[in-house]
This record gives sequence, C-alpha cells and structure tokens, in this order.
Amino acid sequence: MNCPVNSVCCSVSSRGGVVESPYLMPSDIKAISEMTGLEEQSFVENRINPLTGNVVSFVSPPMGHGCRFHDGGKCGIYDARPIDCRLYPLDILFKDGSYYWILRQYCEITHEDLNALIEYGQALLPSIKDHLHDYATVPLEAMDKAPYLLIAPVKF
Ligand code: SF4
Repeated sequence: MNCPVNSVCCSVSSRGGVVESPYLMPSDIKAISEMTGLEEQSFVENRINPLTGNVVSFVSPPMGHGCRFHDGGKCGIYDARPIDCRLYPLDILFKDGSYYWILRQYCEITHEDLNALIEYGQALLPSIKDHLHDYATVPLEAMDKAPYLLIAPVKF
C-alpha cells in the first residue's frame, strides 16, 4: 500500500512508539538473504514461542532491541522487508479462539480508510497462513504494552 513515508522505517514514522525487531517468516529470510547476500545466522534470532512451543524467528536485534536493518531512519532492505513490516500498522492477534486484525496506534496513517487497510492485509494473508498461530500469539515485550484497536476478524 502507499505509505506517505515510503522507505522510512515505521520505527521512525511512529509517534514515539516502540517497534521491535520484526518477525520473520521463512520466505522473509530467503528474500533478505537473496537481497543482501547475508547468511541466515548473521541476521536471524530464533526464540521459542512459550504459547505454542514452536521455534519462531526474528531479525536479531543489534543492541538488544530494534532492527539491524534500520539505516539512518530508513529501511536498508525496503524491497525485501519482512511481511511483519509490510503489514504495519496492521497486526494479527489471537483472542478468545479467533484471529483479529488489530491496528497499532502509533502509526501516522492509522486513520486511513480502514477497509482499504484490511483488504491490503487480507491480500498478504497467504504469505502468513502457515505461521499464523505463532505470528498471532508470540509475546512481544514492548509491543504488547502499546495501544491498539481491534478492528475486524481475519477472513479465511
Ligand atoms: S526491516 Fe526495515 S521496515 Fe522492518 S523494522 Fe527493520 S528497518 Fe524497519
């Protein structure tokens, strides 16, 4: 979708919010490796999702937090940025047995047409589907404290 701050990382465009290192799907890891020539182990941090017991991957934070591809306010891998970053300010939350689109409240464009945002998210869903439950449940220390709006159920 069109972002008014094209190629600027959301962690800069956000209104004082904390953007954590992004979640990585296997397709993200492949795309970043291909674009940068980096070996997976040099930018991927694997963690265990305590709610599922599964291994989940994130960009390894350079200094304990943030994103190592953040480069002078911009995204250094914009064309290969992870699905997690492409979705922002949308995110998916598993709540009371269902999946919901949520809207992170720190983004400057959060009051755009919500239907267009949801449509955009739904179009990216095939890239997330196999990892949906981990993506929607893995605890994120800072993001989980940030304000969000629950906006619509995810459609399958
Ligand atoms: S990959 Fe790019 S858009 Fe995503 S958090 Fe890192 S710098 Fe920002």
